[in-house]
This record gives sequence, structure tokens and C-alpha cells, in this order.
Amino acid sequence: MIYGIISDIHANLEALNAVLARCEELGVEQYICVGDLVGYNANPSECLEIVRNLPLAAIVKGNHDEQASEDLDLSEFNPQAAKAIEWTRDQLSQEQRDYLRDLPMKARAGRITVVHATLDNPDMWGYIMDKYAAEASLSYQFSQVCFYGHSHVPMAFDRQMDVEMMESGVINVEPGHKYLINPGSVGQPRDKDPRASFATYDTDECVIKLHRLEYDIEATQKKIIEAGLPERLAQRLSLGY
Ligand code: ZN
Repeated sequence: MIYGIISDIHANLEALNAVLARCEELGVEQYICVGDLVGYNANPSECLEIVRNLPLAAIVKGNHDEQASEDLDLSEFNPQAAKAIEWTRDQLSQEQRDYLRDLPMKARAGRITVVHATLDNPDMWGYIMDKYAAEASLSYQFSQVCFYGHSHVPMAFDRQMDVEMMESGVINVEPGHKYLINPGSVGQPRDKDPRASFATYDTDECVIKLHRLEYDIEATQKKIIEAGLPERLAQRLSLGY
């Protein structure tokens, strides 16, 4: 089976379409969605419909999905994010909001676990940015591979090796090892590389690959401005941050 792993799409239709076209070329058969379908960018409804109609092996809820689907207080979000969430709530139908609200916090696809933030505290929305946070999550991981998202930074941890890897973008999945992997963000990368980020996992070949892909950033930026969303949300896409 070849899985396509897509995370933090954040309503970026141009990036999502580019990634799905590339996944098709790569022979992806099923998808794993690591959450945050909406928020920040200007096509939440369109992206949600595309994702829910993919052959999905697993999908989980992200913090922006939660905020967009429930009428929770936004005072703890930064003002730009809060504005985008309010705008997003208005764009979604009640049925679409119900779909997001009912997404699980964790999911399994065969030997793969999926969570948006961390396995040790899935609903606290913590970030895994170093090996200490990775270790905490790995101690609650009972599958060989777990995909997580939330930070928008592609990273990989191997519990046995106690090291962070990903320089090459290729991970050979070996017996006896346990992996915790962030495929990066499709719709708002934050590692200073503005290209869309995603991963593939070929379970027959036992290889996970990280992919980066250019897309029409200007088209996405134009829509953000036209929607009246904060200009900074458009600017950051060119910077990859
Ligand atoms: Zn996100």
C-alpha cells in the first residue's frame, strides 16, 4: 500500500490540488490526513469537500478544525488566527462544521497511528519540536509509525536511535524501530521553505519519503487579500513561515 500523508492543509486549495496531483503520479492509493483542514487561507469549504471525498485510511481533528466547528472562545488565539477562524466559521455550512467536530483526536490505519498534536496529550495541542517532546509522545505510541502535525515543520524521530533525522527526506522503516514523523504542512509551511510539504509511505517497500512541491502561491495570496483576511497571512506563504 502507498499512503499519501497530508497535514495542515489550512484551506489552501492551490497547494492541496498540486499535492494531490503529485500523489497520483506517485501511485498513492490511500490518504492519511493529519488535521487542520481549515483556518488561515481562503478555501475552507472547498478543501474540506476534496479531503472528505478522498480514499481516506485515517483522518484526525486539528486545533483549527476544532475552533472552526465549535463556538469556543477565541481569546487565547493570536488576533490574526482568531480573525481567520471567525471568517472560516462563516464559510462553512452547519453540516461541514459537524463533520469537523466529529473527527477523532487519534486514529489508526493498520500499523500507523495518527494524531494532530501529541499522543501523550492529544487535546492539549502541544508541539513536538525536540526529542524530549517526541519521547513523551513515543511513550504512548503502540504502533511502529505515528504521523503528527501541528508545528508545520517536517521532522522525524526514531526512538531506538534517539536522534532526529530527515536530512535526506527518506526514512527506511526497519523492524524493532519506532518512528514519529511530521510530514510538514501542505498549506502553510513554517520551515522557511515555502513549497508545500507532504509525505508518502510505501508499506511494501518500507520507505517513508518527504516531498516538497511548488504551487501557485500568488493565486492563494490573492484570494486571502480578496477575502479580507489579514495581509500577514498572505505574506507568510512566500516566506515559508
Ligand atoms: Zn496547523
